[in-house]
Amino acid sequence: MAVFKAENVEDLYEIGEVLGSGHFGQVKKVCERTTGISWAGKFLKIRRKGCSSLGMDRAGVEHEVEILQALKHPNIVMLKDVFESRSEVVLVLELISGGELFDFIAEKDNLLEIEAIEFMKQILQGLKFMHSNNIAHFDLKPENIMLSNKETPNPDIKLIDFGLAHHFVPGQEYKSTSGTPQYVAPEVISYEPLSTAADMWSIGVITYILLSGMSPFQGDTDEETLRNVVAMKYEFEDPYFKTTSSMAKDFIQKLLVKEPRQRMTADECLLHPWIKPITRRQVANRNRSSINMKSFKRFNAKRKWKMSYNMVSVCNRLVNLRLLCKHRSNTDLLQRQCESDVEDSESNPSSLLRRRLSSSS
Ligand code: ATP
Repeated sequence: MAVFKAENVEDLYEIGEVLGSGHFGQVKKVCERTTGISWAGKFLKIRRKGCSSLGMDRAGVEHEVEILQALKHPNIVMLKDVFESRSEVVLVLELISGGELFDFIAEKDNLLEIEAIEFMKQILQGLKFMHSNNIAHFDLKPENIMLSNKETPNPDIKLIDFGLAHHFVPGQEYKSTSGTPQYVAPEVISYEPLSTAADMWSIGVITYILLSGMSPFQGDTDEETLRNVVAMKYEFEDPYFKTTSSMAKDFIQKLLVKEPRQRMTADECLLHPWIKPITRRQVANRNRSSINMKSFKRFNAKRKWKMSYNMVSVCNRLVNLRLLCKHRSNTDLLQRQCESDVEDSESNPSSLLRRRLSSSS
């Protein structure tokens, strides 16, 4: 079992405002008392045996920490320190102050493909490094692609949230049903052995959205979205892709491939002519193309609305569960029942998929 620092995080850091929230806790700005440097503290509630059932397994936290420690790259959030108290673990992370890439883009009046490509390149460089270390992220989506600092002319991409990431061990199969419907690869849905190629599928979906403001597989319900993914039901609808280069469409088509081994790898993506043009024609083709800003802004506004709606629903659910547990705490039997309800909804793989499904698309 990994040992984290037992000191009280508040003795070393002044705790500041909330930067964001996830399923298991909050991320807050923290300021290191000795240096005055600001960091992001990810406060994760830990589930202890026999106590409250809310929170994350310690093993899950250890897993996220192990992965972050293995990933030192300019395009991946850096882990500085880890503290542990009885009920929570605090990850001290590099502070990423530029917000989400999609929000940054949505504020612009227009964006050329070449500008979008500069961001894509950095995402791919982070992924290339991750994959060369046999680690897959498995939850790539706009919410997990942030910018170091949007005040600088060329902000750096930072990939965050390694809660679903996996470190592959040679010879060992890995299956999982976790992910977010809009971005999840077909092999995840059909519960087949996974590889880093699942991330490349998500890159295909993200690129599609970035260029057109449309989500390729989005249905009216999560189930319909998943069915569309499995059926590979997508097309480049004309009004949305009017200003998109043919090379960009080719790039997406080589990622949204059902067979994981046939998909482009991050390495191959970095050599694709859309990212790295060779001929003058390819350069000109890119330079003439732009992203569909009107549609992109619409997509992003809807995404943000859904995120806040989901956050309110999750909070209400947690409050109700806490109240339920309190009322029942007199009897062991009922308390256990309450715990197993939460176990069912939080740790069972298929319900985890359902949880992510219902909370993210
Ligand atoms: P989820 O429930 O989606 O898995 P999580 O509990 O793993 O989330 P994160 O996704 O890592 O938490 O973080 C939640 C939010 O906090 C992010 O969407 C982002 O807005 C903010 N955040 C996370 N890490 C940082 C950071 N290093 N700097 C600034 N803000 C951050």
